[in-house]
Amino acid sequence: MARYKDEQCRICRREGQKLFLKGERCYSDKCSISRRNYAPGQNGQKKAKLSEYGTQLREKQKTKSFYGVGEKQFRKYFEMASNSKGKTGEVLLTLLESRLDNVVYRLGFASSRAQARMLVTHGAFDVNGIKVNIPSYLIKAGDVISVREIKKDNGTIKAATESNESRPVPTWLERDLSKLSGKVIRIAAREDVDLPIEEHLIVELYSK
Ligand code: SF4
Repeated sequence: MARYKDEQCRICRREGQKLFLKGERCYSDKCSISRRNYAPGQNGQKKAKLSEYGTQLREKQKTKSFYGVGEKQFRKYFEMASNSKGKTGEVLLTLLESRLDNVVYRLGFASSRAQARMLVTHGAFDVNGIKVNIPSYLIKAGDVISVREIKKDNGTIKAATESNESRPVPTWLERDLSKLSGKVIRIAAREDVDLPIEEHLIVELYSK
């Protein structure tokens, strides 16, 4: 079992970056990237040179893991982005940031995106006063996300909110801890994405 316990950390180590997949542990000195920043496996410490395709693929995999999105849905976002007027890579990241599970995590009501996804699926949040239990729901500017009245005593939400109290909320969101709610001031822009991503590599990969 121990092999699977650190599965999420192995993903970070493979990508060589903190992807914040495990909640509190990611912000502590127990983070595996802080302790062993090399790829898992026997040859993990040997730096293999990636091909152009390999580099593009890793960038896509890293982004998918960061947002916890599967291949089919990721491809769907890419198609939406490429059919939009903006720059495809930037729009792709904006769409990923606009997912309800990401917004719940960014507001600090969950300690990881995976936990946010679980809470949303279990009907813990309202959007503009209406229950939404679809993690991929895309929020808009002006939307208000709030913990539903019957979930305000939920232990997971309480623990996450307490431990995230001092963690800054992105400037595109506004949080009201007393009401356990948050407002979308504006849609996230490219510069709001805090993971180093070279989105042009993803665009190149899907454009082949
Ligand atoms: Fe593990 Fe989180 Fe550190 Fe990634 S960021 S290696 S998931 S503790």
